[in-house]
Amino acid sequence: MNNKSNELFERAKQSIPGGVNSPVRAFKSVGGTPVFIKSAKGAYLFDEDGNKYIDYINSWGPMILGHAYEAVVKAIQEKALGSTSFGAPTLLEIEMAELIKSMAPNVDLIRMVSSGTEACMSAVRLARGYTGKNKIIKFEGCYHGHADSFLVKAGSGVATLNIQTVPGVTAGVSVDTLTAPYNDLDAVKKLVEENKDQIAAIIIEPVAGNMGCILPQQNYLEGLRKICDEENIVFIFDEVMTGFRLSQGGAQEKLNIDADLVTYGKVIGGGLPVGAFGGKQKIMEHISPLGNVYQAGTLSGNPIAMIAGYTMLKELKNNSGIYKELDEKCSYLAKGLHEVFEKKRMKHRINRLGSMISIHFCDHEVIDFDSASKADIPVFNKFFHHMLENGIYLPPSAYESWFLSNALTYDDLDATIQAANNVSK
Ligand SMILES: *Cc1c(COP(=O)(O)O)cnc(C)c1O
Repeated sequence: MNNKSNELFERAKQSIPGGVNSPVRAFKSVGGTPVFIKSAKGAYLFDEDGNKYIDYINSWGPMILGHAYEAVVKAIQEKALGSTSFGAPTLLEIEMAELIKSMAPNVDLIRMVSSGTEACMSAVRLARGYTGKNKIIKFEGCYHGHADSFLVKAGSGVATLNIQTVPGVTAGVSVDTLTAPYNDLDAVKKLVEENKDQIAAIIIEPVAGNMGCILPQQNYLEGLRKICDEENIVFIFDEVMTGFRLSQGGAQEKLNIDADLVTYGKVIGGGLPVGAFGGKQKIMEHISPLGNVYQAGTLSGNPIAMIAGYTMLKELKNNSGIYKELDEKCSYLAKGLHEVFEKKRMKHRINRLGSMISIHFCDHEVIDFDSASKADIPVFNKFFHHMLENGIYLPPSAYESWFLSNALTYDDLDATIQAANNVSK
């Protein structure tokens, strides 16, 4: 029963554009009415109608330890008593920066912001200021937030809603954003040759999660690293999804490759609005007030946001077995779903790394945006609704990765596989 959610959606549309504060939540591509969430605990969401769901979105990544994780909730409550914002430096910000540096490679200096968008936007500005060059290369289907320069062949909601060019982004901005297909090194080489000495940065999701989950092929990131070194291009890893999720040190550590600048979001805030960008000293020292590349934020380093993120990261650092447990759970889920689809003779590809996974209904490899978009989207949409009706909350788009939390039990995974087993072809 979804009576209340239906009612609330109608009411929301009267005063919020499309009824939502972020587009993919509206279920536009899968159809139907979004579920209005009342609360969540551990691996489960509870909606306004009293339905319970096993959650595979986890707030699009942050809730890696599950919802309302006790240590995080307690830390927020205690901190709030000492005021929720000062706009002045605090000890906690130093502790947060030191903790991040102790976990992630290649972070000499780190600046906190309030979203992943802000982190990526600032990193690109810094790369431009540092190199004195204007153009950037991004990859088709990668999403780096909604800043103007990233809304060219973007993934996530832009892909889900099939928006080809975003009105409001000026041609002047978009000419400086060059795009190449993911996993195609030659395309990047060509762009770099054609735009000799004009490219400030290559920004990439080292494991893409905004067109489903897509892994970098052998030697791809290494090849990009080499190009950046040879051409004085800043290599930016957008680890907003992968940071502190694939491992303590994110994709850099998991895939053993160095970035020049790294952006974070999602997990780093423990479910509060937090982002960060950091990297090598010689680049980061161009940020104001050290240098002249201006970047600022009234609520940057906010104490409540910092204590939530700090507590979450500390948990991950002190219990590094979590990553192995998550990997085993995700592998178990992938195997179970694969067996179900095989039995039903449903064409499918399952892409996975660590606790990120996506299902594409097709019989070709999914290695870039083009191959992802050639999967059977109507089959995905049907699958999505079947799972939702059976209490499994998946991302409402074929272009989004699922995120596991370590609160999931093997019973939850079995229930998920069982629900898939009941889907009619
Ligand atoms: C979510 C996401 C962003 C944007 O972060 P927001 O906090 O939504 O602004 C940027 N890059 C990647 C890879 C993301 O997944």
